Amino acid sequence: MAEVRIEHVYKTFRSKGKEVEAVKDLNLTIRDGEFMVILGPSGCGKTTTLRMIVGLEDITRGKIYIKDRAVNDLTPQERNIAMAFETYALYNHLSVKENLLFPLKARKTPADEQETRLHKIVEMLEMEDILNMKPSQLSGGQQQRVSLGRALIRRPDVFFLDEPLSHLDINLRINARNRIKRLHAESMTTMVLVTHDQLEAMALADRIAVMNFAELQQVGTPRELLDQPVNLFVAGFVGEPAINLLTGRLICEQDEIYITDDAKIRQKTGLKKIDGSGQIVLGIRPHDLIICGEGEADLAGQVEVVEFLGEQKQITFRVGENLLTSIVSVSTKFEQGQNIYFRVRNGKLHVFDKQTERRLDYQHKGVSVCR
Ligand code: ADP
Ligand code: MG
Repeated sequence: MAEVRIEHVYKTFRSKGKEVEAVKDLNLTIRDGEFMVILGPSGCGKTTTLRMIVGLEDITRGKIYIKDRAVNDLTPQERNIAMAFETYALYNHLSVKENLLFPLKARKTPADEQETRLHKIVEMLEMEDILNMKPSQLSGGQQQRVSLGRALIRRPDVFFLDEPLSHLDINLRINARNRIKRLHAESMTTMVLVTHDQLEAMALADRIAVMNFAELQQVGTPRELLDQPVNLFVAGFVGEPAINLLTGRLICEQDEIYITDDAKIRQKTGLKKIDGSGQIVLGIRPHDLIICGEGEADLAGQVEVVEFLGEQKQITFRVGENLLTSIVSVSTKFEQGQNIYFRVRNGKLHVFDKQTERRLDYQHKGVSVCR
C-alpha cells in the first residue's frame, strides 16, 4: 500500500520580513497505484506541495503520511520515493546505461538484480538503441526518458514528477505523455505529477487536484471536473475550448427557471431561488451548445468567426456583449454575420453564485428553496 495522505498541511515562507503562505490547509489523499495530477496556475503552491511530500521542504503545520507512516521528520532517503525534476540532471561523463544503474550501484544492489531491473526499464522506455551513448548525444526526449528510467529503477513506492514535459516541444510532449501513461500502467507505481497544463492533466490523470492561490479547489476525475466544477475558477481552468460564461439572474416562475440578461435560458436546474440578489453566472461548455431552430432556442446570436478544427468546426458568436464559443459538426454551414440559434444540452447548464463564485445546484447547502 503506497497511499499518500496529506492532512491540514500549511507552508509559510518567511523572507525579508515578509510572509508568503504557499500552501493553506491542504487535505488530499493519493490512493495506492493512482495517477494523481496536481494542476494549477504558476505560483499556486504545486511545487511546494511536492517538495513537502518528498522531504525537500519543512512542513509548517499539518501531517503527511506515506504508507500510513508519518514522514514529517524523515529524510527524503528514508521515504522511499523518487522525484524527476524539470531539469534532467544526468551525469554527462557516464553512458546511458551507467546513468541508469547509478542508483542501484549506490545502494549496492546485487549484480543480477541490477541486470534484471535494467532490462525491464530499458524495455519499458525503449532505450535499447541509446544505452551506450552519452547524455550530450541525446535529444531532449531521450534525455527525459533516461531521467525517468533512472528514477524508476529504484522501485520507489511513489513517483513524483514536477512539470516533466513543459520544456519539450508539442510533438515530443504528446509522445512523452503517452509514454508516462504507459509507464504508470505497467509499473503500477503511485504517481503524482504537477503541471499548469490542463490538457496534460486531463490526458494523464486518474484524478486531478486543482489548486489556486495556495488552496485546493477540487479533487476529481477529469470527467467530474468538467461536469461538476465546484466554482468558477475550476470551471474556467479546465476544459478546451474554455467554458462560456454569462452573467444573469434567476427568476422563479412556476416550475421552471428562467435566466435572463442577454439570453433567456429555460432549464430545470433544480434551483428555485438563491439568497441575496440572485445574481448568477451561467457556464455552458462549447460542446454542450446544440444548433437548433429559433423556436426552441435558449440563445440567439450572430456568427463572428468560423474555424475548421479537422473533424469539427468552432463557431464564435455574439450574444449581446458576450462572445461565446461552440463546437459543431463540420457539415454545419454558417457564415460571418448570420443569425444562429442554440439550445443547451439538458442538464449541462452550470450555475454559479456571482458573489461567492461557488457552484449552485440542488445539492448545494447554501441554496434556499422556495417551493
Ligand atoms: P508553483 O509550483 O505552483 O508555481 P510554488 O510552490 O513554486 O508554485 O510557489 C508558491 C508560492 O510560494 C509562490 O508565491 C512562490 O513565490 C512562493 N515561494 C516558493 N518557494 C519559496 C521560497 N523558498 N521562499 C519564499 N517564497 C517561496
Ligand atoms: Mg512549480
